[in-house]
Amino acid sequence: MLKIKSISKHFGGVKALNELNLEVGEGEIFGVIGPNGSGKSTLINVICGIFLPTKGDVIFEGQILSEKPTHQRLKKGIARTFQNIRLFPNLTVWQNLWVARNSVEDIKTESSFYRWFGKSSIVKKEIEKMLEFSNLENRADELASSLAFGEQRRLELARAVATKPRLLLLDEPAAGMTVSERAVTIKLLKELSKTRSVVVVEHDMEFISRLCNPVIVMAEGSVLFEGTSDEVKKDEKVIESYLGRGAKLKDEN
Ligand code: ADP
Ligand code: MG
Repeated sequence: MLKIKSISKHFGGVKALNELNLEVGEGEIFGVIGPNGSGKSTLINVICGIFLPTKGDVIFEGQILSEKPTHQRLKKGIARTFQNIRLFPNLTVWQNLWVARNSVEDIKTESSFYRWFGKSSIVKKEIEKMLEFSNLENRADELASSLAFGEQRRLELARAVATKPRLLLLDEPAAGMTVSERAVTIKLLKELSKTRSVVVVEHDMEFISRLCNPVIVMAEGSVLFEGTSDEVKKDEKVIESYLGRGAKLKDEN
């Protein structure tokens, strides 16, 4: 469903992405790991259109999107979350979801008019489902800024899901979370992947190995290794470059 063809992204002399190729299949939870600065966030930004590639193509469901702006990609079904949470802090939880839900609607038709004024019971029901999904029912009228950190991350995820994506891009969705919050996130993401593809960027191998298949390891803007999480954990080249010589990856399974 997603094909990245020989993508490069340069910032001046920095080659953040360097002739990178990958393919994400329908319903996959595709894991991306790699050390800081290896180009993971840049990859997400190029897929969702925040950065245009220096070279190469982003192909989604057979369409070349490389030059398309972010809002058009969102309408085509590509949504994301950010490494640093970016909610609308002065809107309530409910309003954050409502804005997201309406961002993918055309506002030309009469029914959309009603949606925009919050009158559509369909939209209200969908938002209620999102609140339930993210376990934020009791927080619906709170300002996003007043939520605890883990709740903010869940709201960001729910907001991305509210745009009804077929491909969800998550940049470090478990960063800063407690162990139990991580477990909840893994459950949510497994549930989400039943009806869409997910790309998960993380530098935590344990989180990735419990969730993702396949996994790629990035180094200096390219794919160093692709395989199952078990294969990745055993690969000498990966262990050496990612964790340093002599390091061992802990196995949680
Ligand atoms: P990761 O997410 O794997 O930590 P990034 O994709 O954020 O890595 O960064 C890859 C490289 O690109 C780094 O060297 C970083 O400094 C550089 N880079 C990323 N974004 C920008 C930018 N907007 N301007 C200049 N350099 C950038
Ligand atoms: Mg990053």
